[in-house]
Amino acid sequence: MSRKIVTDPVTGMKKCRVFKRCGGCQLQEPYKDQLERKQQKAQRMLSKFAHVNEILPMDDPWGYRCKVQNIFGLDSSKRIISGIYQSSGQKLTAVEDCMLEDPRCAPVIRTLKKLMKDMRIAPYDLRTGRGLLRHTLMRTSFTTGQMMLVLVTAGPVLPAKKNLVKALLRSHPEITTIVQNICPDGMPLTLGERSEVLYGEGYIEDELCGCRFRISPASFYQVNPIQTEKLYNCAVKAAGIGKGVTVIDAYCGTGTIGMICAKNGAEVTGVELNKSACRDAVMNAKLNSLENIRFYNDDAGRFMVELAKKGESCDVLIMDPPRAGASREFIESALKMAPAKIVYVSCKIETLERDLKNFRRGGYRVTYIQPVDMFPHTTGIETVCLLEKGEK
Ligand code: SAH
Repeated sequence: MSRKIVTDPVTGMKKCRVFKRCGGCQLQEPYKDQLERKQQKAQRMLSKFAHVNEILPMDDPWGYRCKVQNIFGLDSSKRIISGIYQSSGQKLTAVEDCMLEDPRCAPVIRTLKKLMKDMRIAPYDLRTGRGLLRHTLMRTSFTTGQMMLVLVTAGPVLPAKKNLVKALLRSHPEITTIVQNICPDGMPLTLGERSEVLYGEGYIEDELCGCRFRISPASFYQVNPIQTEKLYNCAVKAAGIGKGVTVIDAYCGTGTIGMICAKNGAEVTGVELNKSACRDAVMNAKLNSLENIRFYNDDAGRFMVELAKKGESCDVLIMDPPRAGASREFIESALKMAPAKIVYVSCKIETLERDLKNFRRGGYRVTYIQPVDMFPHTTGIETVCLLEKGEK
């Protein structure tokens, strides 16, 4: 199979041949130009609030993704291919050597395709509903080296699964756990409710900022651990964490940011909607021997409304909402609770701008803005902001 990577003769930059069709990346220009572009956008949108610090770059902006997903299908010659759906529609684009992904993943997927052919495991066909393997999810850790492979199947019966697992491990002893997830319907890349662990523990562990985190297949975990460590360090520093400081970590995922605060002596309450992530968060507190942190599996907005009603508050509110930003009820309740500091971690600058305006109207001023380049070669910008109550 030919590699899909070429180098631009002028800039010397690595270029991906499926760039246009795949849609996973949006920027194909030298890295310093990408940083410049993002810096300008961050300044354009956020400098009305406060000085925007220089974006934190990656030293090596390739091979950073520790979460890798592949959809399976057949090409026009009925050969098994894997990749992602084109941004424009339902056509599967074969992606062989994505340069953003942990390079340990592609060889596993190549082996899997060969085994599928040998063992007659057909890729699932969305249009006809026939076939078995819908997609795979791989999660890896750069610090512990652990690797998880999740085989997402349309039905529960995976023929000769013992032999499949054996053959995968023979070629790739670096895989530490294999899970079958059964997903009878739903959108491409979704996971079903039922899982069966075929090998290992069914999760991997990663280390960030001196804490250890368990990550299950369905839990949210940042996709770029190298930059995540920088992001979390900025967030925890901005929060001014010390012994006895009370913290709410809203949209906490597997409890990562709150856990780092708890390790530094804070009293932390985490809230997260996803059950699996919340379960991992509880386990992670045990794994790190922390007793000063607890978690609630709830909608962050609803949770904050309840706290505000009871007249409860905290010293620092850390919030890391999904792209849609925080809900109106979340912000209204946060304003009622009036913590001295709010640390806003954002993965979408447009919703961040909207929410910062609302916090400003509610009496907060923005005192720190730090963009972090979490997603090189894409247009995404991650930002940490600090908001403080009252006039200077
Ligand atoms: N702080 C975590 C997770 C950030 S991603 C980290 O750094 O890993 C956003 C998280 O918000 C996801 O885990 C998602 O499951 C969760 N989420 C989405 N909507 C939510 C809601 N309405 N209430 C609470 N959590 C929500």
